[in-house]
Amino acid sequence: MGDYHVHLHPHGPYRGVGPEPGDYPPGHVEAYVEAAAARGATEIAFTEHLYRCVEAEAALGPFWEAEPRRDLADQTRAFVEEDRLLSLDGYVDAVVAAQDRGLPVLLGLEVDFFPETIGAVLDLLAPYPWDVLIGSVHWVGGWSVDHADVAWEFERRGVRRAYEDYFAIEADLAASGAVDVLAHVDVVKKHGHRLPEPPLDLYGPVVDGAARSGTAVEVSTAGLHVPAAEIYPEPTLLGMFHEAGVPITFASDAHTPADAARDRDRAVDLARRVGYTHRAAFRRRRRSEVPIEQVPIDEEELP
Ligand SMILES: [Zn+2]
Ligand SMILES: [Zn+2]
Repeated sequence: MGDYHVHLHPHGPYRGVGPEPGDYPPGHVEAYVEAAAARGATEIAFTEHLYRCVEAEAALGPFWEAEPRRDLADQTRAFVEEDRLLSLDGYVDAVVAAQDRGLPVLLGLEVDFFPETIGAVLDLLAPYPWDVLIGSVHWVGGWSVDHADVAWEFERRGVRRAYEDYFAIEADLAASGAVDVLAHVDVVKKHGHRLPEPPLDLYGPVVDGAARSGTAVEVSTAGLHVPAAEIYPEPTLLGMFHEAGVPITFASDAHTPADAARDRDRAVDLARRVGYTHRAAFRRRRRSEVPIEQVPIDEEELP
C-alpha cells in the first residue's frame, strides 16, 4: 500500500511548526515514513507543489494576469508570492538522498495544470528522475478554486457554472496525458458547494480523457477534512472511473508527518465498494498494478 500524495511543508510563511520551508533536517522524511507505516502504508510518494518552487516561476508565468476579475487575480498573486518558498532542486535532492538512505519513498510532484503552460512545465521537469507526477487544477483562470478566501466566487459565478469551468480544465488535464495521476479530481466541491445531482455530463469527459490517455486517479482522504466531508472523488465518479478501467492510487495529501496515510481504511473501503481490487504503483513513471493489500493497522504506533 502506498500514500501517493504527501507534502513535506505546510503552506504559507513559517509559523514555527516543523522545519522551515525548504529545510529538510535529519529525521524529517523518516517521520513521514514512520507515521505512514503505522497506518499500513509501506511507501510514500512525496509530491511537492510545483507552484511553490522558485524555479517554476518562469514556466508558469503570472498566470493570474489574464483573469478579468481583478479581485480574484489579486488574491492569487498575493497567495502565490507568499507561498513560493521552496526550491525544486533542494526538494529533489532531499527525496533522492532519502532514497539513497534506503527509505521507501518515491520522487513525485504535484503539477499545476494550465493548458497554456503545460509544455513549458514538462520541459522544466524533464531532467529530473521522477517516479510519479500527479496533476491538479487549483486555478480556474486566476481563481484559486480551492482557497477559502475566495469561496464567495461560487455565489457570484453560480455553482453550476463554477463546476462547468472547473471540470472543463480537469478534462483537458485528463486527456493531455501530461501526468500519471489526477489529484483530488472533484476538489471543486471542497467548500461544500454542491449540485442537486452528480453532474454526469461534466464527469464524462474527465473519465473518458483519463481512460484514453492512460492516466490514473487518486482516492484522496483529504476531502474528509474539509467542509465537503467526502473522499475525492465522490462514489459516483469513482464508480465511473472503475467502469472505464482507470487505475487508482491512494492519497492523504498530508502536509505534516502526523497526517501521512490518514483514514487509509476509509479510502480502501470506498475503492473496494465500487469494485477495485488493485491499485497502481509507479517507479520512474512506469506503472504496475498491485493488489490492494490488507495491511493490519497498528493504532499503537500512530502519532
Ligand atoms: Zn492539491
Ligand atoms: Zn497536495
